Amino acid sequence: MNVYLDNNATTMVDPAVVEAMMPFFSEIYGNPSSLHRYGTASHPAITKAINQMYKAINASDKDDVVFTSCATEANNWVLKSVWIDKILHGEKNHIVTTEIEHPSVLSTCKFLEDQGVKVTYLPVNDQGIVEAHTVRSFITEKTALVSIMWANNETGMIFPIQEIGEICKEKGVLFHTDAVQAVGKIPVDLSVVHVDFLSMSAHKFHGPKGIGALYIRESQKLTPLLHGGEHMGGRRSGTLNVPYIVGMGKAIEIATENIEEKMAAIAAKRDRLEDALLSGLTDVFTVGDRANRTPNTILISIRGVEGEGMLWDLNNALIGASTGSACASEDLEANSVMLAIGADNELAHTGIRLSLSRFTTDAEIDYVIERFESAVSRLRAISSSYAIVQPTAGGAAAECGIHH
Ligand SMILES: *Cc1c(COP(=O)(O)O)cnc(C)c1O
Repeated sequence: MNVYLDNNATTMVDPAVVEAMMPFFSEIYGNPSSLHRYGTASHPAITKAINQMYKAINASDKDDVVFTSCATEANNWVLKSVWIDKILHGEKNHIVTTEIEHPSVLSTCKFLEDQGVKVTYLPVNDQGIVEAHTVRSFITEKTALVSIMWANNETGMIFPIQEIGEICKEKGVLFHTDAVQAVGKIPVDLSVVHVDFLSMSAHKFHGPKGIGALYIRESQKLTPLLHGGEHMGGRRSGTLNVPYIVGMGKAIEIATENIEEKMAAIAAKRDRLEDALLSGLTDVFTVGDRANRTPNTILISIRGVEGEGMLWDLNNALIGASTGSACASEDLEANSVMLAIGADNELAHTGIRLSLSRFTTDAEIDYVIERFESAVSRLRAISSSYAIVQPTAGGAAAECGIHH
């Protein structure tokens, strides 16, 4: 059986999305900026996709949704443009973010530090989130932007975005959230939550790779990252990628339709898997309260089992999982998110992320439970350290937000 449990890295494109995209490759292929009928033929589809985006996040029609090449671009755009607008050409010099943002935010912040910007990387608590009052205490007169993810890609933990948004609004500070792991997984309602900028990526919710979007609140100015032919109202130049725009619209519509039901169905499978692994194995720990986690994600540590060894065994069983951020999995470093929440170095080397999707089946879960448990037994039997340093249950790990 093939089982793909790496849906926080990317997802299968929904066949209905592929079908919606197809005509825009070779039938309706004109440049939407052209004035002839070949160009204008795509306009209704683009309008439809934009409306699908607005509806999915409950944006106001005064707000902007601008398509980008990916969420990495959207994150770079916000950070670099706020730097240009408010720091190079303004009075501010400070950005607040967290220690566990996606590399597309963290590396951009490091770049901005090299340019002289002050960046505060807020530490997370034992649940892997930053509390709103912590954010408040680090905002100063000089703060231009707060950039905090809606949900974390490795743990699935959900940040208190509504409260953070209120604080930023009250303090008059711009607020950006990387919502890549939230949109399509949990409700994102911008009529209730105040954000100025929000990044999304289609391939995380069963759309195509290579397209993302940035939501921009009404009247927020943002210097373009890409200058050129004034596409998208001059906000982002480059010929519109019509098939992908259509695909992103269709994918977000499907993902957010009856989202509560979809969440419950995925959570039921996730919970069954998590309960089975926690009860079937000793010395395993999962990160973060389920109630405050995206419904598809488990980050599990297995004492005595290196994450990479476990991935190898799972891969041999045709199960695709991850040790954490896909971008970082080539080096054998400890999982930085686990270290940030207070796991010891050994536990942080043993984190395995299992991320489900709405296409995951019960039969797949049964198979994963069986193969996961046999892989752990095999690897522990050949582990030189496990038998010697086997800790007592409820040791240090239980105190750092890691649950049995
Ligand atoms: C995947 C991911 C991104 C990057 O999205 P791309 O569209 O692949 O650039 C950014 N942030 C988070 C939290 C992600 O999970």
